[in-house]
Amino acid sequence: MDSIKKLAELFTKFPTVGKRTAGRFVYYLIKQPKEETDEFINVIQELKNRIKLCQFCFNPFETNENQVSANLCPICSDTRRDKNLLCIVEKEMDLEAIEKIKKFTGLYFILGGTVGTMKTEEINGLRLEELKQRVENKFSEIIVALNPTQEGKATSILIERALKEINYSGKITHLAKGIPAGGELEYADEETLESALSGRK
Ligand SMILES: [Zn+2]
Repeated sequence: MDSIKKLAELFTKFPTVGKRTAGRFVYYLIKQPKEETDEFINVIQELKNRIKLCQFCFNPFETNENQVSANLCPICSDTRRDKNLLCIVEKEMDLEAIEKIKKFTGLYFILGGTVGTMKTEEINGLRLEELKQRVENKFSEIIVALNPTQEGKATSILIERALKEINYSGKITHLAKGIPAGGELEYADEETLESALSGRK
């Protein structure tokens, strides 16, 4: 396959990128000076070498020379965070959105997706087993912060079922209404997100 086609095909694997956008990306790169594309290649390589997945919450974090052996992200290793509070989110961008409002002081867990159907292979894509291992009744409250969509609701049921399996005895709360139904947490404005978090029940 020629390299234009090959690169375009790789770009279509990116979230939200369709064929047309992928093509534009390729022609954009062709027009760039070689130093620019070399820099681009280096940054991607560096990203893969320096970014680790947190062993607790699965949040990717950057390590520097002093902490190459770190296994926990800055949030999980921050002693000031409330270790009784766990917030379950679907993906990294949702964690970022909640973190940005600076109102949540507990820990996070990135579930890795939501399910549209109750098919086993879809359910297996979620980190439910990992969640059970992490919880072990160490938390007094677990906030299920998923999108107010059908998928979010179906996934909440699975989370509650998983927590029941390990006899979790703390509180389970959900974000308050406010994020438009069918809307996405990652795009909610800070004020809406803040009131959804503080009004959780
Ligand atoms: Zn972490």
